[in-house]
Amino acid sequence: MKVEIEDKEFQLMLEYDQIKKRTRLLGIQLNLEYENKVPLFIGVLNGSFLFMADLLKEIDISCEVAFIRVASYEGESSTGKVKEVIGLDVDLKDRDIILVEDIVDTGLTLNYILETVKKQEPASVKVCTLLYKPSAITHEIDDISYVGFEIPNEFVVGYGLDYKGLGRNLKDIYRVCNVPSET
Ligand code: 5GP
Repeated sequence: MKVEIEDKEFQLMLEYDQIKKRTRLLGIQLNLEYENKVPLFIGVLNGSFLFMADLLKEIDISCEVAFIRVASYEGESSTGKVKEVIGLDVDLKDRDIILVEDIVDTGLTLNYILETVKKQEPASVKVCTLLYKPSAITHEIDDISYVGFEIPNEFVVGYGLDYKGLGRNLKDIYRVCNVPSET
């Protein structure tokens, strides 16, 4: 099955049914590992909203839920971009934190979020990401403990992930079709 978004064509990569099954397994694992704790799940918007909703439906231990987003704007820094975590209004000291991400690509964003979160001295921080592109990582991260699917270094949309702001509402996940290069 294919979908068109703006100037690009995408083909089916992961069906919702597969995502649901994997999410259920992640939930079982989290329920066991956090059995005697009250973890705080922090979803990273916008991309994680559907995964966060489905994951939390599989969690049956006592827990809290919050959301943050990362703003990125041009500024005076070595990378050229300044990042800022918005919405972190819960006290994280001594809490067990589970950061919920849609996708980890280079790891830059997550690395920045982890630095910000750890400044508040939580008891523990782990990352649960639906998708992980191991070959794209440039910032190694030790705390990625829960991964839904490892995928190749290809651009994907659907199930929360967008292309030019569109496609977040697609139930399944699609990969971009490669346009044959003109010779
Ligand atoms: P990173 O900082 O790890 O390079 O990128 C993190 C962010 O880039 C993700 O949270 C996501 O918003 C965006 N991103 C990275 N790869 C993809 C992709 O394949 N598709 C979409 N839609 N967004 C991506």
